[in-house]
Amino acid sequence: MASALSDKLSRLVKDMRGQARITESNVQDMLREVRMALLEADVALPVVRDFVARVKEKALGQEVVGSLNPGQALVGIVNRELVATMGEGVSDINLAAQPPAVILMAGLQGAGKTTTTAKLAKHLIEKRKKKVLTVSGDVYRPAAIEQLKTVTRQAGAEWFPSSPDQKPLDIAAAALDFARKQYFDVLLVDTAGRLAIDEALMREIRELHAALRPVETLFVVDAMQGQDAVNTAKAFKDALPLTGIVLTKMDGDSRGGAALSVRQITGAPIKFAGVSEKIDGLEVFDAERHAGRILG
Ligand code: GDP
Repeated sequence: MASALSDKLSRLVKDMRGQARITESNVQDMLREVRMALLEADVALPVVRDFVARVKEKALGQEVVGSLNPGQALVGIVNRELVATMGEGVSDINLAAQPPAVILMAGLQGAGKTTTTAKLAKHLIEKRKKKVLTVSGDVYRPAAIEQLKTVTRQAGAEWFPSSPDQKPLDIAAAALDFARKQYFDVLLVDTAGRLAIDEALMREIRELHAALRPVETLFVVDAMQGQDAVNTAKAFKDALPLTGIVLTKMDGDSRGGAALSVRQITGAPIKFAGVSEKIDGLEVFDAERHAGRILG
């Protein structure tokens, strides 16, 4: 793999020529490069520290020290560790529930929740052959309700009406009742976001979670958020038992380090990646490919 990191490590190894063997302190130099590469990819500092400590343990377990090409060996370890961390537990949407299976969408305003709700509806219709209903609990922004209506139509799913004079809990109960009576397989519940975390938002989504008992609670997060994604992820993880992550705006030019940060902070698997504004711009998350992108 020709990556920025492997180039840097090769240079370091060249500098070591003339030395009898790779020592623990040479490994330290190389680990510093790994740390820099992860920080450049916008992985959050505490996550980088933890990750590098794991890599160090493996590197010192003889795999790098004494190897003929220590730079490549270390890149291999980093790559494997990235894939193992980000790919752990990855699976499609879990629908193992008495229908309608409820999927709750959580995240900040602008993260891509509404767009992702429709993309998921399309995915579930086309790939899983499900009958899908969507509903918006965003009573603060009438435009958000209309937006969900529009994109739900594009997805070929059905939309349950709601309005700003209703309470989110009442909307959820009515949508669930309708979905049951009309034999929908899946109910996707889009929720209100805020520009920043606030207690009222968290209380509201916790109440929705308790009432709906969703089989999936997906945290939607903008991959371009970089370091900030960590604080958002922490707040949502503390408020809700997250079952999966959707990383949006992966078509942007970020190196996508948020994937590693959010995976590590929430412990939830990254299920999907949003790759365009369009309704079909959703891909199953590929940890291997993403590891390559983080390493540059
Ligand atoms: P919400 O406030 O969380 O519901 O976010 P929206 O679904 O309204 O999305 C906010 C903006 O991000 C919109 O302009 C979307 O078109 C855009 N968006 C969402 N997902 C993606 C994605 O994967 N790629 C790109 N390029 N844009 C996206």
